[in-house]
Amino acid sequence: MKNYTSFNSSIQEKELFSYYCALCGALVIVTNASLEKMPLRSSDNAIVIDRKESFCKLYMRKSNSAYIKRKNGLEQQFRWRCECGVLIGYQAISFEESERLAEIKEDSEEIKLKNKAFLYILNDAIVLNMHSSSLIQRLSEYVKTGK
Ligand SMILES: [Zn+2]
Repeated sequence: MKNYTSFNSSIQEKELFSYYCALCGALVIVTNASLEKMPLRSSDNAIVIDRKESFCKLYMRKSNSAYIKRKNGLEQQFRWRCECGVLIGYQAISFEESERLAEIKEDSEEIKLKNKAFLYILNDAIVLNMHSSSLIQRLSEYVKTGK
């Protein structure tokens, strides 16, 4: 397919955005995609990042896989967690497979078009400003009030 184009201008911005764990404030993802503008998955409202289209640097650890019951059957999720343990997101293919795709996607049209290279980020698991995280808000509250 030669006329493969992206219609989503928000993911072609050169600016990078940093997102932080909503609980502890640790950096979890740096991406050129403005996640506020990304589509949401209808089944669970997760933010959908197309890794074929977007640069993503993940500062999360690979975690367990789990099966989630959906309307049309079981779905396997390979999960990403913040260093603090909070579940941040998941992908539908194994970590090994996504790493292999990342290595060869530059020169393989077939891989580019493969329809599974998505990263799903739980909507309320990340914040754009680390000061919005629960822990840092709690700490600043403590510094102000001593409680
Ligand atoms: Zn965290």
